Amino acid sequence: MTPYYDVWKARMGLPPVGEMARFLRPLDKEFGPEAVERALGNYLDEAGKFVSLARFAHTFKMWAPHLSLTDNRCVNHPAEFAVATVSRRPLCRSCFEAL
Ligand SMILES: [Zn+2]
Repeated sequence: MTPYYDVWKARMGLPPVGEMARFLRPLDKEFGPEAVERALGNYLDEAGKFVSLARFAHTFKMWAPHLSLTDNRCVNHPAEFAVATVSRRPLCRSCFEAL
């Protein structure tokens, strides 16, 4: 988690350690530290002082344009990122769960 603290500290000051562990650890596991570190920097640069790690985690892929899966949008809801591909059609979570 240390690189994330550094990213935070450089922009925001004292890092919210508990919240960071809670929201960043799952992303770290799924996407790897490098992707999360870059995405967090992108988010903090953009969000200014209205920062929410919950929001960052929820919209993670928006902040990680370096991940190839960013382009993967739901065929039914272009605003939503796809979480799965079914019969070669990318689907968002709600479409996927409705199958
Ligand atoms: Zn959908």
